[in-house]
Amino acid sequence: MNRRLTEQEREWLVLGLETLRTGEYFGGGNWVDLETNKAKELDQPLDPQPFLQQIDELRVVDKCPCGEARCHTVTFQNFEIGKSVAIVCSSTKDSRMLIIHINEDTGRLAELEIC
Ligand SMILES: [Zn+2]
Repeated sequence: MNRRLTEQEREWLVLGLETLRTGEYFGGGNWVDLETNKAKELDQPLDPQPFLQQIDELRVVDKCPCGEARCHTVTFQNFEIGKSVAIVCSSTKDSRMLIIHINEDTGRLAELEIC
C-alpha cells in the first residue's frame, strides 16, 4: 500500500493537531480525572504548524488489520517499529479515539490511530 490521504484522514489529522494549539491534546479541559472528579488541566499550548505542514506529503503505507468496523488506523511512510510516540490523544466527532503519533527520531507524522 502506498497512497495519498483520503479527505477523511486529512480532516482527522487537522482536527487532532488543532488541539495542540488549545492545550487539549491529552484530554485537558475535556476528560474528568476520576480521583479528583475535576476536568484535567490543559497542557502547554503548542504550535501545530510544523505538523500541519507535513500533511500534504504524507503517504499511507499500511492499515490496521484488526477488522473492527470503527477502526481506521493507518501508518505513514515515516513510521518505524518501536519509534512511535503519541503527541495527540483526542476524539473524533463520532466519539472514536483519535491518536496521532510521530516518529520520535525524526519528528515526522508516523501514525493515525482511529478506533
Ligand atoms: Zn484496528
